[in-house]
Amino acid sequence: MSNALVFCSFDAGRDGIPAGAEEVLTLARKIAAARGVDLDWLVVGAKPAAVDEIAARHGVAHVDQIDDAKLAEASPDLLVAALAGYVSQHSPGLLMMTQTFDARLIAPRLAGRVGAGVVMNVVDLEDTGGGVKATSTAYGGDTRVEYDIAGAAVVGVVADPLLPEPASSSSSPESRSVAVDLGGVDERIQVVQKASTEGPRLEDAQIIVAGGRGLQESENYALVERLAEALGGMAGASRPIVDDGWTDTAHQVGLTGKITRPVLYLAAGISGASQHMVGCTAAKTLVAINTDPDAAIFKYAQYGIVGDCLEVLPALTKAVKGG
Ligand SMILES: Cc1cc2nc3c(=O)[nH]c(=O)nc-3n(C[C@H](O)[C@H](O)[C@H](O)COP(=O)(O)OP(=O)(O)OC[C@H]3O[C@@H](n4cnc5c(N)ncnc54)[C@H](O)[C@@H]3O)c2cc1C
Repeated sequence: MSNALVFCSFDAGRDGIPAGAEEVLTLARKIAAARGVDLDWLVVGAKPAAVDEIAARHGVAHVDQIDDAKLAEASPDLLVAALAGYVSQHSPGLLMMTQTFDARLIAPRLAGRVGAGVVMNVVDLEDTGGGVKATSTAYGGDTRVEYDIAGAAVVGVVADPLLPEPASSSSSPESRSVAVDLGGVDERIQVVQKASTEGPRLEDAQIIVAGGRGLQESENYALVERLAEALGGMAGASRPIVDDGWTDTAHQVGLTGKITRPVLYLAAGISGASQHMVGCTAAKTLVAINTDPDAAIFKYAQYGIVGDCLEVLPALTKAVKGG
């Protein structure tokens, strides 16, 4: 079927599937059904083992793969060229990707290359009969904007506010190998240093204790780390204290940090700015400790402690340790 809707993954996470893939597939299935077109999944690079099973659960018709040796170390110029090659062969009506750092870099360039519309930060999509209405966040999550796009489009979807639903249909996806010519591509972006990806990731943590500027001094970040350790979780941080070097960027939660979805998120001395909340509102239970009873974070928290986190954090650590 032509003008299929294509979910594209090229930045597989540690388990091989990009975080939020199933949420985006759920949304993609809705649009594909409204249009009466196939939903396909394009994997650029090595195909993670779980792709076929997940694709089948979401009614995917074809699992396409571009597996060129040059893509082993995925680089933006190569990815844009590979995707543009795919688009010229398959002419998808809509190409969706989970919004990651790489997607931000690639989607606009791809759209420019193939003459398609592009919308990033998408949280919902509706078919308009030939086009699509994309609802997207703007100004760091403070507002929402609706775009009407006629014709083909590339969209980066923020999977976080979406919920994966059990697939209503199942399929036996056909695997197709797609060849594209990457011979003439010169990678202009050189990676000179990679952030360490050793150890557990904040995005996967079930329990996070995060600290903000209310901790007052860098030494007090240890109070957050101690409670996180006692609870068997990980320590998170708001951006200002990362900027000030109290901890490293791997711990930053929020719009320009990590998007987390723990069972428990405990925020100590964090005001609740929208840019921070983007990274933790998917938590099942949010607990806030703040001296200001009117702090914005209490609007999001299921449990609030109005108090000094320099006193409350050690008391909680002691209680958890049974002291
Ligand atoms: C484009 C953009 C992207 C951004 N991305 C991010 C991001 O990814 N992550 C992020 O976190 N921020 C981000 N920010 C910054 C964001 O807007 C806020 O400035 C930041 O989240 C505030 O951090 P904070 O809550 O630690 O500090 P503050 O806003 O200063 O809040 C400190 C809080 O601590 C409370 N407090 C003070 N003393 C105590 C005490 N002893 N005990 C308990 N509570 C106390 C205060 O009442 C206050 O509510 C971004 C901003 C922009 C413009």
